[in-house]
Amino acid sequence: MKTLFLTLGPQVSAFEEELGQFLVRYRQQAPPIVVGTNSCSMGLILCLVAFDVTLGDEIITTPMTFASTINAILHVGATPVLVDVDPETGLIDPEYVRAAVSPKTRGIIPVHLYGQLADMPALRAIADAHNLFIIEDSAHGIEMEWNGLRPSDLGDCAVFSFYATKNITSGDGGAIATRNPMIAERLRRLRNHGMSKEASKRHGELYQHWDLETLGYKANLTDLDAALLRPQLPLVLEKRMARQRIAEYYEAMLCATIPFFADHARSRVSPLIARRGQSTHHLFSVHVPANHRDFILNTLGKACVGTAVNYRAIHTLTYLKNRLGIPRGTLPIAEEMGDRTISLPMYPQLTRAEVDYVVQALADAFAAVAVHR
Ligand SMILES: *Cc1c(COP(=O)(O)O)cnc(C)c1O
Repeated sequence: MKTLFLTLGPQVSAFEEELGQFLVRYRQQAPPIVVGTNSCSMGLILCLVAFDVTLGDEIITTPMTFASTINAILHVGATPVLVDVDPETGLIDPEYVRAAVSPKTRGIIPVHLYGQLADMPALRAIADAHNLFIIEDSAHGIEMEWNGLRPSDLGDCAVFSFYATKNITSGDGGAIATRNPMIAERLRRLRNHGMSKEASKRHGELYQHWDLETLGYKANLTDLDAALLRPQLPLVLEKRMARQRIAEYYEAMLCATIPFFADHARSRVSPLIARRGQSTHHLFSVHVPANHRDFILNTLGKACVGTAVNYRAIHTLTYLKNRLGIPRGTLPIAEEMGDRTISLPMYPQLTRAEVDYVVQALADAFAAVAVHR
């Protein structure tokens, strides 16, 4: 608070540098360029603008995501083309992406759902074959890894969120990582109105005019945010391990206590998400029977267990239903997941006794509807 630059100053630069280094941890490799933003949502918009996405362009993405992935595409005048997801992971299915590519397609936005990295090699191959960009919606964590791959390794940009519920947070905040210096330069300009020079870069020199070089936004990270985020970076991997242990314990207890969860062969969408690579375990979501989902949510709520739904298939929400006109039945796996999913409490400090309590509350809810067999 006592320093000269409260925004776009040295804390932001230091955080950008440190996040870049974090992304290449334990590797002999140059870090990606990181551009701090005020949110992941604005970061997605800036990326689309940086790639000159415009009216009529198509962007292929997933219905298993938060609204802002789709909103970003709509805000730049492009058309979201939604394709179905893998029933084991809920991640965008590259085969459906391939089939959805049209002459109007400009890019792909995979979402690394719950912190599992999407199948980036397959998506990169499709993108390269059709000259498309990939923007990774990496809101569910900076710390994910799968087959040695991390966010920003194969995507043109990876966009992170530091919103209140995410694994590291400054209340609100975001960042974009890219290995493309020209795109990074555009992103820096776009986050700061389109101005040619940031205030802190002009300081200490004789007065220089800045120029307005493009139509930009006000979407930068502040030094206050960055100062809150920096000390969290060294703790991220340890917390990931704690979340993973909790996820493993949850899975064991659910299977031991509620027969529904042990019976994986029963349906197309399995009750538990397949654990894939080093997930960030940002959310612990399970799939219960669709016809009892809301009853189970209420029963857990009455037992003081906090829950959420991440996510109902995005094309079923009112505005997008009207705007996109994708009828139910078009994306059956995402729709089924969306009708069945419940997110249970998940954070590094969660104790085994608390997990036991949650599982028992869920078992009670199942007993009440008598859906176990
Ligand atoms: C949270 C979230 C966002 C939006 O992040 P903000 O920083 O709040 O804008 C985008 N995509 C997904 C998948 C999210 O979970």
